[in-house]
Amino acid sequence: MSTVAFLGLGHMGGPMAANLVAAGHDVRGFDPVPASQDAARANGVTVVASAALAVAGASMVVTMLPSGRHVLDCYAEIVPAAEPDTLFVDSSTIDVADARAAAEIATGAGHRAVDAPVSGGVGGATAGTLTFMVGGPDADVAAATPYLEIMGRKVVHCGQGGNGQAAKLCNNMILGISMVAVSEAFVLGEKLGLTNQALFDVASTASGQCWALTTNCPVPGPVPTSPANNDYTPGFAAALMRKDLGLAADAVRATGVPARMGLLAAELYEDYAREHGGTDFSGIVQDIRERSGET
Ligand code: NAD
Repeated sequence: MSTVAFLGLGHMGGPMAANLVAAGHDVRGFDPVPASQDAARANGVTVVASAALAVAGASMVVTMLPSGRHVLDCYAEIVPAAEPDTLFVDSSTIDVADARAAAEIATGAGHRAVDAPVSGGVGGATAGTLTFMVGGPDADVAAATPYLEIMGRKVVHCGQGGNGQAAKLCNNMILGISMVAVSEAFVLGEKLGLTNQALFDVASTASGQCWALTTNCPVPGPVPTSPANNDYTPGFAAALMRKDLGLAADAVRATGVPARMGLLAAELYEDYAREHGGTDFSGIVQDIRERSGET
């Protein structure tokens, strides 16, 4: 049993911390939001009054925070308070450059650090079935893995520090682009007199097959478990897709890659999430349909 500090006990961090407790670890948590504190306490987390108090005496620190700014500010506070050679694991989704800067703050003070963003959403966090994409030195990733395997089902070592975030942004850029593509195809099919089921039956077993179609199908009917059948209740909220595509677009611009589709998807989700941020990201099909001209 280890003492683990967990900072950020929100939608994702709350259930992740609960799974560490259920596996027998002593989890000391902090979150400034009282409702998150109460929920964590009910799940067996020892909630303390500050991030610095949480890390004191812990051998590992997990952060699950909203943005890179939050992570860097938090590291500035907690790194000096940590025991020597503490293992820092940041599972927030943040910019690659911020991830590398955060790791440098920790390693520069004699600690170990990996970035370990996740895929799988609140459902995966609760069930302990997340996928972790990890960046960092072999030994540090190996040290983090037994803990990640409690909170997740799959751990992929993606290379050097920051590469976990790189994998996350690239994956979600594929997802954003493919959801727009699938949604546009359904609306075009409707305009051409095709039923959604007929297009699904063809594309799901042909070369248009992808997760956005076969698991998170944006139109109701073909995949009964997709959010489209539940009034587009997330699932994966459009606001989070906007955030991830924004990070991907920043990386695209910084690297000079001519990723026009990625930039366009970021722009489309920027527009869509402005009014529909709490809707599942597949709801963009409704926006495309509404903006389609009368035939
Ligand atoms: P959330 O807003 O529910 O939780 C973040 C928590 O961090 C909040 O409760 C906030 O009060 C807390 N916090 C802020 N500053 C803090 C500090 N200094 N110390 C301690 N706690 C602090 O967000 P979430 O949905 O849990 O997402 C967390 C991260 O996971 C984000 O980076 C998000 O992009 C990523 N993510 C989310 C999902 C999802 O489906 N929700 C999926 C994959 C990745």
